Amino acid sequence: MPESHKPSPMDKTLEQLDQLLEGDVLTDTLSRMLYATDASPYQQRPVAIVRPCHAQDCASLIKFAAANTLPLIPRAAGTSLAGQCVGEGVIVDINHYMNRVIAVDVKNRCATVEPGVVCNDLNNELRELGLMFAPDPSTSNYCTLGGMMGNNAWGIHSQHYGTTRDNIIKAKVVLGDGSTALFEPLSHATLQQKLRLNNREGIIYRTLYDMINRHHSLIQQGFPAPDGLLRNTGYPLDALVHSQPWQATGPLFNLSPFICGSEGTLALTTEIELKLVPIPQQRILLCIHFHRLDEALQSVAQVLAFQPVALEIIDHHILKRTATNVQQQANRFWLEGNPAAVLLVEFHENAIAGAKIPKDAIAALSKQLAAYALTVVESEQIEQVWALRKAGLGMLMGEPGDMKGVTGIEDAAVKVTDLAAYVGAVQQLLLTHDTDCVVYGPAGRGTLHLRPKLNLNLATERQKYRQILDQVCDIIIRFGGSISSKHGDGRLRAFYLQRVLGTEIVTLLQTVKNAFDPQHILNPNTVLNALPPDQNLRFTRKHNTLNFKPFFDWSKDSG
Ligand SMILES: Cc1cc2nc3c(=O)[nH]c(=O)nc-3n(C[C@H](O)[C@H](O)[C@H](O)COP(=O)(O)OP(=O)(O)OC[C@H]3O[C@@H](n4cnc5c(N)ncnc54)[C@H](O)[C@@H]3O)c2cc1C
Repeated sequence: MPESHKPSPMDKTLEQLDQLLEGDVLTDTLSRMLYATDASPYQQRPVAIVRPCHAQDCASLIKFAAANTLPLIPRAAGTSLAGQCVGEGVIVDINHYMNRVIAVDVKNRCATVEPGVVCNDLNNELRELGLMFAPDPSTSNYCTLGGMMGNNAWGIHSQHYGTTRDNIIKAKVVLGDGSTALFEPLSHATLQQKLRLNNREGIIYRTLYDMINRHHSLIQQGFPAPDGLLRNTGYPLDALVHSQPWQATGPLFNLSPFICGSEGTLALTTEIELKLVPIPQQRILLCIHFHRLDEALQSVAQVLAFQPVALEIIDHHILKRTATNVQQQANRFWLEGNPAAVLLVEFHENAIAGAKIPKDAIAALSKQLAAYALTVVESEQIEQVWALRKAGLGMLMGEPGDMKGVTGIEDAAVKVTDLAAYVGAVQQLLLTHDTDCVVYGPAGRGTLHLRPKLNLNLATERQKYRQILDQVCDIIIRFGGSISSKHGDGRLRAFYLQRVLGTEIVTLLQTVKNAFDPQHILNPNTVLNALPPDQNLRFTRKHNTLNFKPFFDWSKDSG
């Protein structure tokens, strides 16, 4: 409990909260410092950290927070990149206790989990059953299913299996007033019953149902999705428009996929039912080497015609980093020469029913593309190549020196046919700011992780950062693209929602937020009501350099 000897009103409030919960309330300085950052560039010290033990704790916590106007910031592994896990309120660490796999139903291929279960832990348990949860973000060895749902995370194989939203069946949640609900697929009759409920859940159903009836075409036009472009911007009202009863052949009305990607701003998830899929038996990976980045980008659409289950690009910046990384050196066995970029393309035998791995695709691709080499990787070695790709961002973040490839525009998406032109436009812009960027990511979904290199410790570079965010937003709008296809709005992108989606759509999103969380207790300033994206950056803090001789020598890494 509070370290100060003179209890403040907030100390008293937190003491009351501590008595209410079975879980922990941490207010010590070290804990508050540890939870002040996530994987984003932001830093804000929370007043406390709560570690709920179960759904009842979550409900009591939200009721208490609503009564005391205490903002809550749900947090799982804290690997978010856009600032959606930091804030000055109370951090709700959902994965400390709530991390049980509750049930696995092999026959119906589904699993029920608490939100704090780590993605790879679940898949390790499922392996002997021949099943897996398919979305595979690069952080799958420590990110949780609650966090994946919060961000609608997806990964390398989402080209085929879809995002977390596509793989959720049901969710038990606590709403902004502390009441609970089960979001699941609803038949017409059950939806009618829900619409008559005299509680917060009923308000939510009525709000969304009326909204879609009244603004059907605005929602369809306001959320353009050319070529199935992914968009983790705002709340996915467009997905509801494509469900029943508005689209007779669409899926049943279900709010569990809807809250996927809402970044802890609509409800606190306490239990999730997930779809499982069989582990693929036959896999093959093609590593297509190019002398030029633009040639690799221009080849993406052609490669997609062969229906791969994964299609990623990595450029020479990442490959160069792997050469000096002890762990990754063993994963470079497939490389030939010094490519400017490589396309990594995976096929599964059971991806398309009855289809054989298209070995003839290899010959066809070799002939068609401007590639200079094509390596074929099979069996366990495939994981080594993906390990190298997944390590990319971590290695960039740990690059020696203050100049880093920074988060900000790193998950924008455009049509695959526009990839080369889009990268060209961003590179040209970055030249005017005397910098360049790293290029890698799931090109097959039109997403590229462009990371401009900047030293955010310098005020002048932070100004550049802000200008780059603004100007790239304009470029993305020009290409009809998506400002965030993967990592969410957080604080980084929320500021641009109005510009990207327009005032009318943002007003609808506000109405959605008010229905779920009328007092805006849940993760305020994330997704909606954003602060400027360069506010609360951790780099603006004054750092004191202690004068002592460390035991380890990190001087080679500028440490
Ligand atoms: C090196 C690196 C690589 C990455 N690669 C990928 C990638 O390939 N694909 C990808 O999609 N993302 C990627 N990310 C982003 C991030 O890892 C994923 O989005 C991940 O799924 C977040 O999970 P988490 O457990 O860390 O959740 P957190 O970051 O803790 O939380 C994520 C969001 O969910 C909310 N939340 C958490 N728990 C709950 C709950 N129980 N109820 C309601 N809301 C909740 C939080 O408020 C937050 O808004 C990467 C990040 C890093 C640092």
